[in-house]
Amino acid sequence: MSRVYNFSAGPAVLPEEVLREAAEEMLDYRGTGMSVMEMSHRSKAYDTIIKEAEADLRELMNIPDNYKVLFLQGGASQQFAMIPMNLMKHKVADYIVTGQWAKKAYQEACLYGKANKIASSEDKTFSYIPDCSDLPISEDADYVYICENNTIYGTKFKELPNTKGKTLVADVSSCFLSEPVDVTKYGVIYGGVQKNIGPAGVVIVIIREDLITEDVLPGTPTMLKYKTHADADSLYNTPPAYGIYICGKVFKWLKKMGGLSVMKERNEEKAKLLYDFLDESRLFQGTVEKKDRSLMNVPFVTGDTDLDAKFVKEAKEAGLENLKGHRSVGGMRASIYNAMPLSGVQALVEFMKKFEKENL
Ligand SMILES: *Cc1c(COP(=O)(O)O)cnc(C)c1O
Repeated sequence: MSRVYNFSAGPAVLPEEVLREAAEEMLDYRGTGMSVMEMSHRSKAYDTIIKEAEADLRELMNIPDNYKVLFLQGGASQQFAMIPMNLMKHKVADYIVTGQWAKKAYQEACLYGKANKIASSEDKTFSYIPDCSDLPISEDADYVYICENNTIYGTKFKELPNTKGKTLVADVSSCFLSEPVDVTKYGVIYGGVQKNIGPAGVVIVIIREDLITEDVLPGTPTMLKYKTHADADSLYNTPPAYGIYICGKVFKWLKKMGGLSVMKERNEEKAKLLYDFLDESRLFQGTVEKKDRSLMNVPFVTGDTDLDAKFVKEAKEAGLENLKGHRSVGGMRASIYNAMPLSGVQALVEFMKKFEKENL
């Protein structure tokens, strides 16, 4: 068996330790004689799994008691609809569009009410985060929406927007648990877990309790009401049980590593290594404004599409996989999530140095 360094943006690398543990428990989960995949979601063993997962996540993120944690399905994309259906009481919401995912969320919200694009960085192919200190927030906005880390473009909000008292809703799919956050600054934090936490199929929604009501848009399906899932502790119907189990293991791994401040330090160290090299390289360049650089997703180019393709191909042969940029941007992108070890980024930078020498 040999494992590669996997720089995929998602589904993405998971901690090897977690995968080994899951493998050991595959046929007989702790004396139950069955796999977690084969187990009733109403069983005692599974109840412990989902309750511990929630408790560990609450501890890691320091989530206050007046927030619910929901483990749902449908990916991050389903939230693009669930958010307006549940939160647009006045049918108005403000969107800050900093990439494809925010744009998709905005377009979806337009189906349900008046979604206002109050800021955008599309003019420069989403290579920066606009100044959000004094935006024209709508008087009657039900919420202000951001995508906090832009997976495709590699930018991140280093400061949250000034929402002028309105509820902040954030898609944190690609920066979930990468650093400490102050949950009280948000009404809703959500993300698909397949970027930085676990296997595809689970989306985690952390939502302030007062935002969970029966007052939703007419016609909202039962399955798409936050209240349905909050009232049933994420067990209204069969949840993505195996995925939640793996997420739980990742939470325990994060706790063992020292929690989110330690992850932040590690992530900063990894990102610095790569960005410092990009800044001094004569062949490769980063593609976004330095002040807005993501710690998780690092896009870069040589400026020559043939050379980019050669790089991706030769990197793969060297055990550095999934470095091709998103189809809408081209070039390369290294996603260096929590589970990517420092040695992976070191190997990447060494390979880039060698490639530069050979191709300049
Ligand atoms: C990947 C991604 C999504 C889409 O996630 P799905 O689970 O595939 O729907 C949405 N937002 C961000 C920031 C992402 O990185």
